[in-house]
Amino acid sequence: MSDDFGVRWWRTDVSTRVLLSRDGLSEMFAMLHGGGGSRKARHPFFIVDKALKGQAEFNQLWEQGDVFAFDATASEPRTGDVDSLVRGLHERESEPDIIVGVGGGGTMDLAKAVGICLKNPKPSAEYQGWGFNMARGVDVWVMPTLAGTGAELTPIAVLRGPEKKLGINTPLVAPAFAVIDPALSKGAKHFNRFYTMMDCYFHHREITISKTSAPDAMADARDGLELARSVLSRDLSNYDGAVAVASARASVLGGSSSVSGRVGAAHAISYGLSNSAPTLPHSVAVTISMLGLPDLYEDCGAYSETLRFLETNRFPAPRARDYGVNASHVGRMVKTALGMDKLWLSHFGDGWEKIVTPEFIEKIYIKIIEA
Ligand SMILES: [Zn+2]
Repeated sequence: MSDDFGVRWWRTDVSTRVLLSRDGLSEMFAMLHGGGGSRKARHPFFIVDKALKGQAEFNQLWEQGDVFAFDATASEPRTGDVDSLVRGLHERESEPDIIVGVGGGGTMDLAKAVGICLKNPKPSAEYQGWGFNMARGVDVWVMPTLAGTGAELTPIAVLRGPEKKLGINTPLVAPAFAVIDPALSKGAKHFNRFYTMMDCYFHHREITISKTSAPDAMADARDGLELARSVLSRDLSNYDGAVAVASARASVLGGSSSVSGRVGAAHAISYGLSNSAPTLPHSVAVTISMLGLPDLYEDCGAYSETLRFLETNRFPAPRARDYGVNASHVGRMVKTALGMDKLWLSHFGDGWEKIVTPEFIEKIYIKIIEA
């Protein structure tokens, strides 16, 4: 491997300290115990993806007294998960001074939400959205075991609440520290490895053609796009060390480019689908959306590349109806998608309202359902 392994490869300043490591767990434990440049030992509470149980390299995590196993397969973390963890931690004699999240995007988001909600009085559902006046939370450290979500850097914790799936959005939610060891993605399933990187590709693709994203974000997104494309052009059914490093770099660029960059039409359409299908993973929702938008994405090549990546990895084109989405959902999906004004502005620029009418969106959803 090259000597520039850990040298900063993104342009946009992020508040999270990033460490790219070939021995992430040992380095993280050394720092938690007061070594590696940090002086005092910390009192961590671990939130770990349940799927990592039984993978030998993660044994040390389960041996910690304070660990919660999060089942990320069923749904994004729910506001109820956050609230019950926060309640449990408040009842202790001494609260943790650091929350460590190890897993995919959902697990990291749960850790981020618990970290901030520990120091804020209301139930987490009351912080879903933007612009709340929140106190700084407990430090959150994250270790991604799946590359592509960018959640290791982003100031968002996406939660499924009683009423809506929406993030807690505040700069205070960004992790203090991300320890990224690309080899930790070794045990990920082919499906997850592929689709998470697809979402990463869509983020980069949408930002590179955005009308409202900042130049640094677009430059990061262009680099990320090249990396994601090189990864997805391979069969990802088996783990490959070099591919894992490229994936980890693309993921970090997805986090950095989202600071001042904005996604566009494919993501706007995906949110309508997600609201109607609780079991539909976000990454699959965006893939379905991309395949429903050939007119908007053929010029940049994203539509045909999406088909090629699926074919290379021997996955059929995903269909909305396989996740229970049908004609009865169209009205509500149109309303959700229409509300994504910032994303439509990003895609079309000024005057988007003349193009993105309810009829325009309805046609897209009908086509997606019939695919
Ligand atoms: Zn996405």
